[in-house]
Parts: sequence; structure tokens; C-alpha cells
Amino acid sequence: MANVTLRSVRKTYPGGFEAIKGVDVDVGDGQFCVLVGPSGCGKSTLLRMVAGLETITGGEIDIGGRVVNQVEPADRDIAMVFQNYALYPHMSVYNNMAYGLRNRGMAEAEIRTRVEEAARVLELSPMLERKPRQLSGGQRQRVAMGRAIVRQPKVFLFDEPLSNLDAKLRIAMRVEIRKLQRRLNTTSIYVTHDQLEAMTLADILVVMNGGQVEQIGNPLDIYQKPATTFVASFIGAPPMNLMPLRSDELTSQITGTEGAGIVGIRPEDFVITSEAASGGVALGLTVEAIEHVGAETFVYGSRRREEQGVAANPGELPPGEVIVRVPGTTGPAIGERIRAVAPRDKLHLFTADGRKRVG
Ligand code: ATP
Repeated sequence: MANVTLRSVRKTYPGGFEAIKGVDVDVGDGQFCVLVGPSGCGKSTLLRMVAGLETITGGEIDIGGRVVNQVEPADRDIAMVFQNYALYPHMSVYNNMAYGLRNRGMAEAEIRTRVEEAARVLELSPMLERKPRQLSGGQRQRVAMGRAIVRQPKVFLFDEPLSNLDAKLRIAMRVEIRKLQRRLNTTSIYVTHDQLEAMTLADILVVMNGGQVEQIGNPLDIYQKPATTFVASFIGAPPMNLMPLRSDELTSQITGTEGAGIVGIRPEDFVITSEAASGGVALGLTVEAIEHVGAETFVYGSRRREEQGVAANPGELPPGEVIVRVPGTTGPAIGERIRAVAPRDKLHLFTADGRKRVG
């Protein structure tokens, strides 16, 4: 069994900066956990603490039922894959993968078995004698994965492993990593700032902000019920539209909920229609920009003053404030006036400070 459990984990760097302010996460055996959040939120710090590369200021980290706070990195039964691959340029692919095992004094026959098996799984068998510079970026990334696999660790740790790859290869490698992890069934913790990568890879998604966990759970649950406006705007692209509500009276009229100060609507939850909205939000918009991305079209509109429902003072709201996502390639034209309607059951409601979901 290799659960990874973080209990009230804290990190204060020398100099006094509190990078992790009490984090609790429980990753079950074989699960894929993704830590996601903006630059500086502390996700790399947290991963490095699990790896043993940073000291732990407070709390406990437990790997496979053993508290590892005082355990050396080499004895934690983890293997880490970095974004820069950290391959040895003068060594062959075979020797790059074998290096860590030799250091541990493993017999050559066992090393050969493990490296050949990893190469087979990663489709690197024909390249074992090549040097890293004779490989593509994606192949180098697979060698880095191979080095982790041959160790047969209890836990894989990934620190933005795909960030040096181009967009197409990133997607291909993302799918490969997920397939590989399912096949090996090894508990994994993966750090990224890319919300799409996080959504597609995670069994458990941990959204971090300012050294704290903002929300933790299944990715689709988080998408459908973000707990805060931070999560609402971080997960999903284009982001959720967030609009302050004008008055308490309007709030209860639109939402039937007391205490909501911000309404959120995902771009795909609007319909462009002239029909009346019943119990939802209807916005009159002037189309400012259109983006065709193939299967769908993003419509950027600005709200007019007379619009019901949401804070309608254009002075407070920059143009292009509302994003509507429509399927296909047909959509309104720039300058056109449209009505975007979202039904009540598609509204996300938050307190005015954005810290709490209320409906
Ligand atoms: P990024 O996506 O940019 O890598 P991150 O979420 O991984 O960001 P961390 O690298 O964990 O963030 O850093 C978290 C915070 O801790 C940042 O504000 C950073 O400046 C600070 N920090 C990181 N390392 C140190 C250090 N050695 N000493 C002091 N502060 C540090």
C-alpha cells in the first residue's frame, strides 16, 4: 500500500516567508493526485517536501503508513520526474535509465531486466544506445519517465514534466502519462499550473492559492461546483464570468438566495436567444470580438446599462466583460446586439468576498 497523507503541513522558508499554511491531502493507493494553482501558490514547495528536498516546518507527511518527516529522500521510496528531464548528456539512454540502479548496487542482470521492460513499455527499445541529443523532446521525456519507472517506487512525483514541450506533444504525452500510470497503478502526485492538464490527469484535484488548499476533490465536481470565485475562474477556459449583484432585492429576485453577492456563469451555459428568461439571467450585450476555434466560437460582449439582473454600470465593467461560448462556427457579428440567457440552474452564487459558494 502506498497512500500519501499530508496532515497540517506547513513550510516557512528561512527569512520568514510562509509558503505553505497548513495543508491536508489524502492520496489513496494507486491514485493520481494533481496539485494545480498559479505561480507562487506553493505547489512545487509541497511536492519537494514530499520528496524530502525541503524540510517540513510543521505537520506530518506519511508515505505508505510511515511518517517520513525525518527520512532522507533516497529512503522515501519515491521517484521524481522533473521538467528539465535532468538526463546525463554523455550517457546512452540505457545508461541514463540504469544509473540510479547501479548507484544502489543492483546486479547488472536485474538492471537489464528492468531497463528493457521500461523501454518496452515506453516504446524506447530501438533507442537504448542513443544519446539524449539524438532524441526528440518527447522521447527525452519518456527516458526521464523510464528512470523513474525502473526504480519501482511506491510513489511517482512529477514537477511540471511537460512544460518544455510544444502544445501538440504536451497533449500526446499527457495521454501517455495517464495510460502508463493506470497500467503501473503507482500512486502519483503531479504539479502543474495548466488547469486543462490538471483536469484531464487527476483522480483527485487539489486547487491551491496562496499556500493553502482552495478546493480538493474530483475534477468534474470541482468544475461543476467550484467552492470559491478563485476556483471558479481558475478551472475552465475561457473562465467563468463573474458578476457582482446590484442589490439584495435583485439578488433574491434572480437567485432566490439570500447572501449572494456574486453570480457566476460559465461561457457555455449561455444561450443566445430573444426569448424571455424565466428565473435566470438575461444580458443584453454588444459583441466586441469573436474567436473561431473550430468546433466552437467564443463571443466577447460588453453589457449595457439597462440590463436587468447583474451589476449593470458599464463604468465598473471593462468592455468584453462577458464571454459566451457557442457551438460550431456560426455566431453573431462584431457590433451586433445580442441577448445572452442563462437559466437559474446554471448560476453559481458566491458571497460578495468570493470565499464561499452559496448556491
Ligand atoms: P511556480 O508555478 O512559479 O513554480 P509554485 O506554486 O510552484 O510556483 P513555489 O515554488 O512552491 O510556487 O513557491 C511558493 C512561494 O515560496 C513563492 O512565493 C516563492 O517565492 C517562495 N519561495 C520558494 N522557494 C523559496 C526559498 N528558498 N526561500 C524563500 N522563499 C521561497
